[in-house]
Amino acid sequence: MSQPVKTEQRVCPNCSQNNESSSPLPISSGEWRVKKCSGCGFVYLENAPKYEELLENIAWEKSSKVETLRRTQEHPVQDRVSRVTRKRLKLPRKNVLDLLARYAPDGPVIDLGCGNGGYMLQLPARHIPCGIEISRNLAVEGARNLAPRGGWVLNAPALQGLRAVQETDFAAVVMRAYLEHEIHPFEILREAFRVTKKGGILIIKVPNYGSINAAVRRKSWCGVRLPDHVNYFTPESLSSMVKRAGFSIDQFGLFSFRQPTSDNMWMIARKYE
Ligand SMILES: [Zn+2]
Repeated sequence: MSQPVKTEQRVCPNCSQNNESSSPLPISSGEWRVKKCSGCGFVYLENAPKYEELLENIAWEKSSKVETLRRTQEHPVQDRVSRVTRKRLKLPRKNVLDLLARYAPDGPVIDLGCGNGGYMLQLPARHIPCGIEISRNLAVEGARNLAPRGGWVLNAPALQGLRAVQETDFAAVVMRAYLEHEIHPFEILREAFRVTKKGGILIIKVPNYGSINAAVRRKSWCGVRLPDHVNYFTPESLSSMVKRAGFSIDQFGLFSFRQPTSDNMWMIARKYE
């Protein structure tokens, strides 16, 4: 990054408390201040880069791949252990297609940060694939990919894009590896609730800041990625924010959706009314 990054000063995205006067957590790094809200306990990056900066200077869809590679090289043993443990315990890897098949009603599906459409092309006929994508090139490619299925892709930051969506009949909203990047997570959950039809679901996958690995590895935990991860959810803080947005928690079991031994957690929430 050659130019200084423009930042947005954030209050707690969960309860709106200003935590400016409290000291940053030890996982903070350089200029990036991670705070734990003294009001509700939510952990977040206080000075987050603005969307345009993320788009132009940081290009996280690229840097995240580089980051994964670097981490595997630095910690090959731990990574192998976690893979072996997963195999031994026969923990199935979750994926969006399986979860949609199992829990979503019929109807259109919208993916936030859909990239080039990717897995959405494999959705069965009962779902029309739609998405919002901040990267222009990926959005153009995604729109081309999804058009034959009757779907579309909006090129916009997620909140701005979702606010522009008029349809309110989505069978599912998918937030996979997305919510940790979102500067306004509660607002996006409210919008997701608005566009979801009754009986529809929300699928979330985020790093689990309450995991064992996060506690043991602290600053070097794979979920700590500054400045592009701006929210650090625990099972408790994710549940409370999702419920406050209007959803009911549908699937969030300790052994299948939020194992403390896994770096990530999944959640299925549902809109009942
Ligand atoms: Zn708070």
